[in-house]
Amino acid sequence: MNSIHIGPTVKQLSKLAPVLPLYSAIGEACTCPKGAQCKQQGKHPASSIVRYDSKGRRWSATQDLQQIHEWEQTAYSRNLEINWALVTGQPIPGRPGWFLVVVDVDPRNGGDELLGHYEAQYGKLSETWTVLTGGGGQHYYLAIELPTAPATMALVGGIEL
Ligand SMILES: [Zn+2]
Repeated sequence: MNSIHIGPTVKQLSKLAPVLPLYSAIGEACTCPKGAQCKQQGKHPASSIVRYDSKGRRWSATQDLQQIHEWEQTAYSRNLEINWALVTGQPIPGRPGWFLVVVDVDPRNGGDELLGHYEAQYGKLSETWTVLTGGGGQHYYLAIELPTAPATMALVGGIEL
């Protein structure tokens, strides 16, 4: 799962794949109750707004616009800064054999140099939505054709799928 902070709206993204609200990270602190002591700053579900459903199960990631709207309103009314997690590896609606993937390029592990190297060899990555990450890298949102649904994998140093 990857967190969304800028770019397309969560409601647009939810047409492609289920989403779930996460706490956010502001400065050195998470917006969860643990604040600066949190070990997963901005990367875990916003459990205070993700309520239980009528069967006592916690809501999971959804594409239901009314549910997403409710989460947004709850966060807004509590003045709670949130991020959104997007479930990746989902089939693209109406495009059999195509899947939504996010390529994570992390410069801390040399991902940017490696991407430059590959782009010199194979051509530029398609122009697409990108999101800046906390580590100074970028997430590239792409649709690719694959024989089976993709799993999370480290492709090469500094670039992950
Ligand atoms: Zn936290």
